[in-house]
Amino acid sequence: MQNELMLRLIEGAAATIESHAEQLTRLDQAIGDGDHGINMARGFKEVAAQKGEIAALPLSKGLQRLGMTLVMKVGGASGPLYGTLFMEMGKAAPATALPTLLDLSAMLDAGVAGVKARGKAEPGMKTMLDVLCPVADSFRDLVNNEEIDGLDSRIIAIAGHSLHATTMMEAKRGRASFLGPRSVGHIDPGACSSALLVGSMIGVLVPQT
Ligand code: ADP
Ligand code: MG
Repeated sequence: MQNELMLRLIEGAAATIESHAEQLTRLDQAIGDGDHGINMARGFKEVAAQKGEIAALPLSKGLQRLGMTLVMKVGGASGPLYGTLFMEMGKAAPATALPTLLDLSAMLDAGVAGVKARGKAEPGMKTMLDVLCPVADSFRDLVNNEEIDGLDSRIIAIAGHSLHATTMMEAKRGRASFLGPRSVGHIDPGACSSALLVGSMIGVLVPQT
């Protein structure tokens, strides 16, 4: 049987990335090489094409396959990093069909740890981690403190706030780091795609769990 949750996650993520591809590309034109929107749209189009097969797998295997597809299709610096995020989340997923909020938090932590290790990066370096880390940290805190009311909108607020905080950072990783101080004053493209993914996925995940 196909996992309805996985289908909705993939459809939402692919639609969000597709409809914001030009915006992501414009952000990458300012401080990179202008391919981030194209890369992400290509990757999520392929994920959407495989949604039936992915959703038919157990959650753990489905997320790992989704991650592999992103590695192969997104390319650039962000493909292996987003691939690692989803593959590590898959490895940390429970055997049950529906993860609990605590499960999701542990999965997110594992995914973020994988991205940090793969990219040799930490928050503050103007990358996708400047959204992913505060989102994972806040999600863990809120779930552990059982602050479940409005969890989805609070996470969206944190993702948005964190995204805009990349504007004033100087890039220390990726192509934008070649610009040094000239990278200041621009939103990081990978942080933007991460915020878009968080926004599209949280609304599907939280009411279900
Ligand atoms: P490329 O830079 O190879 O053209 P993309 O344009 O697809 O790749 O992705 C660029 C984004 O990847 C950056 O905006 C940044 O968020 C993210 N990124 C680059 N290097 C790293 C890294 N070492 N760790 C985390 N994220 C990174
Ligand atoms: Mg690029």
